[in-house]
Amino acid sequence: MEHNKKYNYALNPRALVTGGAGFLGSHLCERLIKEKHDVICLDNFFTGQKRNVAHLVGNPYFELVRHDVTFPYYVEVDRIFNLACPASPPHYQYDPVQTTKTSVHGAINMLGLAKRTKARILQASTSEVYGDPSVHPQVESYWGNVNPIGIRSCYDEGKRCAETLFFDYYRQNSVEIKVVRIFNTYGPRMHPNDGRVVSNFIMQALRGENITIYGDGQQTRSFCYVDDLIDAFMLMMESSPDFTGPVNIGNPGEFTMLELAEKIIMLTGGKSKLVFMPLPADDPKQRQPDISLAKSKLGWSPKVSLEDGLSRTIEYFKDFI
Ligand code: NAD
Ligand code: UDP
Ligand code: UDP
Repeated sequence: MEHNKKYNYALNPRALVTGGAGFLGSHLCERLIKEKHDVICLDNFFTGQKRNVAHLVGNPYFELVRHDVTFPYYVEVDRIFNLACPASPPHYQYDPVQTTKTSVHGAINMLGLAKRTKARILQASTSEVYGDPSVHPQVESYWGNVNPIGIRSCYDEGKRCAETLFFDYYRQNSVEIKVVRIFNTYGPRMHPNDGRVVSNFIMQALRGENITIYGDGQQTRSFCYVDDLIDAFMLMMESSPDFTGPVNIGNPGEFTMLELAEKIIMLTGGKSKLVFMPLPADDPKQRQPDISLAKSKLGWSPKVSLEDGLSRTIEYFKDFI
């Protein structure tokens, strides 16, 4: 029988990835298979696509399952990565009640599964738990500034409640939890019409259309390339059991949306003009992760610069023009 020394398993560890056909989930499934896991990719295909994992179908270590995490799911696994949830504002605002259900009922079901199987479980939480932050850069000990009744609340409060459930299952049921707060991440396999800023700007620049700046473009975000984020997921999942997080994962390089637009125009060689549109409600003014905790506990820091990451992403989007 094969013995996996790294994980001390008699067989390959069995990993469940919810939201596995999405942008981040598809990269994670690929990485887990490379690292000799047996992977179940579970998705209801709301924002994810079969195309993202088509290259894995047929691999004996990969199974694709259509399922909605708001309903119970029974399977035997060792590791659960809970990523199911639409991530772009237009998508999570399309059916806000379902967004909250996905985060909250989805967390309960996956935590129930982790409790029964004694699997270790990682939650894809978000920098949105900090809301429109008054502490900058954001540290994990900051409790956040979230509007509970706004149009972003279904996502923000759903993710905050999921974190609460994770820590209550940890305290009450000794479930081994890992909570990762992800800051804006981009890369190949983002949906071209997903509505997030990187995909919007690249598609607009490649098509020679106007670039849509919401507000005055002075708001900031910090962008992490997907490969760096997946490295952090893997390190976090296999970190010491007493390290639960929450831990910030992101690239501290902070840019205004105007700077991002200029970089993308330069890298695509396009001639797009900037147009200014109304700023959506509750749009956070600034966001930058403090990653000291990830550095000290996981030995992780991002490696890919914004320019390199954008160039790779632009190559991917050229197929959609
Ligand atoms: P995505 O929209 O590409 O992926 C989400 C996946 O979840 C999709 O495949 C979707 O079909 C699936 N899904 C949605 N509802 C579901 C349900 N009820 N049951 C089963 N599957 C469902 O987004 P992404 O960027 O890959 O995000 C993945 C996770 O990471 C999300 O939980 C998101 O909140 C979190 N996150 C992402 C970012 C980022 O910048 N990409 C930042 C912070 C947090
Ligand atoms: N659950 C699941 N898969 C499992 C075990 C549990 O989907 O393998 C669901 C179950 O339907 C339940 C939820 O997880 O609603 C929470 O489980 P828990 O054991 O914490 O609570 P209870 O079963 O008492 O409601
Ligand atoms: N944004 C923009 N133009 C777009 C899409 C987004 O100026 O076409 C802005 C948006 O208002 C926000 C930032 O870019 O200030 C990041 O938006 P995104 O939806 O990517 O992520 P989030 O707001 O969730 O961080």
